[in-house]
Amino acid sequence: MKTIAIIGGGPAAIMLAAMLDETKFNVHIYEKNATVGRKFLVAGDGGFNLTHSEDIKTFVTRYTPSDFLEEALRAFSNKDLCDWLSSIGIETYTGSSKRIFPIKGIKPIEVLNAILKRLEQKKVTIHTLHKWLGWTNENALLFAHKESDVVVTADKVVFALGGASWKVTGSDGQWLKLFQKKDILTNVFQASNCGYTVSWTNDFIEKFEGAWLKNISVSCDGIHKKGELVLSKSGIEGGAIYALSPQIRTQFECNSKAEIKIDFKPSVSIEVLIEKLSIQSNKSVTQQLKTELNLSDVQIALLKSHVSKEAFLQPNLLAEHIKSFNVPVTGIAQIDEAISTVGGIALSEVDHTFQLNRLPNQYIIGEMLDWDAPTGGYLLQGCFCMGAWVAAKFNQ
Ligand SMILES: Cc1cc2nc3c(=O)[nH]c(=O)nc-3n(C[C@H](O)[C@H](O)[C@H](O)COP(=O)(O)OP(=O)(O)OC[C@H]3O[C@@H](n4cnc5c(N)ncnc54)[C@H](O)[C@@H]3O)c2cc1C
Repeated sequence: MKTIAIIGGGPAAIMLAAMLDETKFNVHIYEKNATVGRKFLVAGDGGFNLTHSEDIKTFVTRYTPSDFLEEALRAFSNKDLCDWLSSIGIETYTGSSKRIFPIKGIKPIEVLNAILKRLEQKKVTIHTLHKWLGWTNENALLFAHKESDVVVTADKVVFALGGASWKVTGSDGQWLKLFQKKDILTNVFQASNCGYTVSWTNDFIEKFEGAWLKNISVSCDGIHKKGELVLSKSGIEGGAIYALSPQIRTQFECNSKAEIKIDFKPSVSIEVLIEKLSIQSNKSVTQQLKTELNLSDVQIALLKSHVSKEAFLQPNLLAEHIKSFNVPVTGIAQIDEAISTVGGIALSEVDHTFQLNRLPNQYIIGEMLDWDAPTGGYLLQGCFCMGAWVAAKFNQ
């Protein structure tokens, strides 16, 4: 039997191990923590959005670059993931946001344990407290285990060491330099799916910290995303802006700042807004915004704090601000606080099976590779389908 060494114990790694043919391979997972799947459990704390229900054609477009995952995603789709989870006793449901979660009552640890039970049935060996340190001169794998060094050889090696946020979970990106020493092209880690800083005035944010902007559309560089945002002391966070991470990062790279625009009324045209604001009545503009346009207190306060008095009183100018409210973004959140990172191993370094071009029989999967996707289940689905894809190639 051939031996497969999987390094790292996150979602990409455990899915790979779960899909490998146990009659053909001895499978070993090496994880530096005392337990596997710590980031998977952290993801579970915030709603545990395992995948998304949208059709595969649209699903593929959520990734940046959009085509690199297409084959793997079609081979192990969102539906395949749900069917597989069901086969190990984890039923899922689609929420109103079209995101897919484990059914109510199933805790994240139960999902992880169900997968680990499958690994046990398949006789996968999990070596915890094994920190990968690099390669020996003979190209074997070198690990630190407790006080000693351990040298491991395998027929195929799959690295699944994760990105570089939430270091407390073990995904610290320290492995980057080990690949650089092998002349493998890497890109600097950057935060994605993260908050952005905005210079709110003290008076404004004291009153509105934690307020949500709901049913809005946010745009950056002509790309529009519907969703919601929450105002924090230092800036903004939330699904609508996470999905614009690639565009915001590009603006920062070019100008060291970025600008997003919020449409407070995406389903109402500017003409209708002007018409409603032009109705002669004895209501103040603030009252009209509240009653005719249904804007929230925080939306009205934002308009008042950023729009000149003259513009506020002119229906056509005010309507323009409601449809395209400028928010200057001054900074990107700390990488460690981000939900995911981009950067890591450049995609040009792997072939379509995720095998390293420079190191035959060594593969890279999961967040280690330089790709991006918004939250909403796309990150986990991306990692799971890479694991399943590599397993399918090995099993052939
Ligand atoms: C707060 C939060 C919420 C999230 N919510 C969601 C969500 O709802 N939906 C979604 O799709 N995604 C979500 N994600 C993202 C998702 O969890 C990650 O994209 C996913 O876990 C990445 O999987 P991975 O297998 O590539 O790596 P990881 O899960 O990062 O696992 C990598 C493993 O490698 C180990 N490792 C690292 N270095 C070494 C070494 N030198 N030797 C041995 N082992 C090593 C680490 O300890 C770790 O266990 C969330 C992430 C965070 C932080």
